[in-house]
Amino acid sequence: MGSELLYLNGSFLPLSEGRIEVEDRGFQLGDGVYEVIKVMNGCLVWLADHLARLERSLAAVRLTEAAVGHELEEILPRLVREAGVAYGSVYVQVTRGPAPREFIFPRPPRPTVLAYVRPSEPPTPAEILAGVALHPVEDLRWARCDIKSTNLLAAVLAKEEAKEAGADEALFLGPGGVVREGGSSNVFAFLGGVLRTHPLSNRILAGITRLHVLRIARREGIPVEEREFSLTEITEQAPADCEVFTASTTKDLRPVVRVGDQVIGDGRPGPVTLRLLDLFRREQALLVGLEPPPALTSRLQG
Ligand code: PMP
Repeated sequence: MGSELLYLNGSFLPLSEGRIEVEDRGFQLGDGVYEVIKVMNGCLVWLADHLARLERSLAAVRLTEAAVGHELEEILPRLVREAGVAYGSVYVQVTRGPAPREFIFPRPPRPTVLAYVRPSEPPTPAEILAGVALHPVEDLRWARCDIKSTNLLAAVLAKEEAKEAGADEALFLGPGGVVREGGSSNVFAFLGGVLRTHPLSNRILAGITRLHVLRIARREGIPVEEREFSLTEITEQAPADCEVFTASTTKDLRPVVRVGDQVIGDGRPGPVTLRLLDLFRREQALLVGLEPPPALTSRLQG
């Protein structure tokens, strides 16, 4: 339902009509940052969290001339409303704008601010329950993965390699096989009765989904530790007893049923993952004024 619609530097227009200058620094130098926000029932889910992260990314790349957060608070809901999108996502990008090609900042810059909404179909319970496979790769990204920058080449190559290996998502590993995050998701493991995920640092993105998963797990009394773990802890020590899932705005929580060649658990989503998924889906539905969806846990048993 609804259609694509673009906001570009003050105007609303069909997405296909948007034009960016050849010397836009986002295009030539990757000199920009972005956000992706989920739309559900016409609402922007956790918008304030996303705008706060956008402001942090802008400050980190010293693009403070584009104090866009406040404007976007009004522009983005209008974009979704005018496009008539019930379910989908909004992509926001801010670059240091067009200027004769040169590494040094243009002074003053003319930032490019754009956002577009695209409708999509929510995943079906069968798709969620099928789970995903991760393909481990060495993390060759730069050392500021906490900035949501448009420099995504390492992730593009890693995700392509994952696809060619028959997997759904790349798994970025640091030295010693430390599990950092997915190609475009955070990664959680339930190991020895504790929900683990990489601590916030320059090596991972502070995912909004991650933040809310941690909050829900703590509220439910599930033991949580933001502490590094290695791939071996999943694949060698206890593959049958552990659970793994990815977390991201567009895909929510996805149970991981295979990492490389190693089957995780019994090859089906584990109980803790499903419990968190049900709580997460219920909370998002209530937040946007929808009926909570039927529990996935019951479907799995049926
Ligand atoms: N890590 C990376 C590298 C990502 O690209 C994403 C998706 N933007 C995430 C984690 C998940 O973040 P979020 O939950 O905010 O979508």
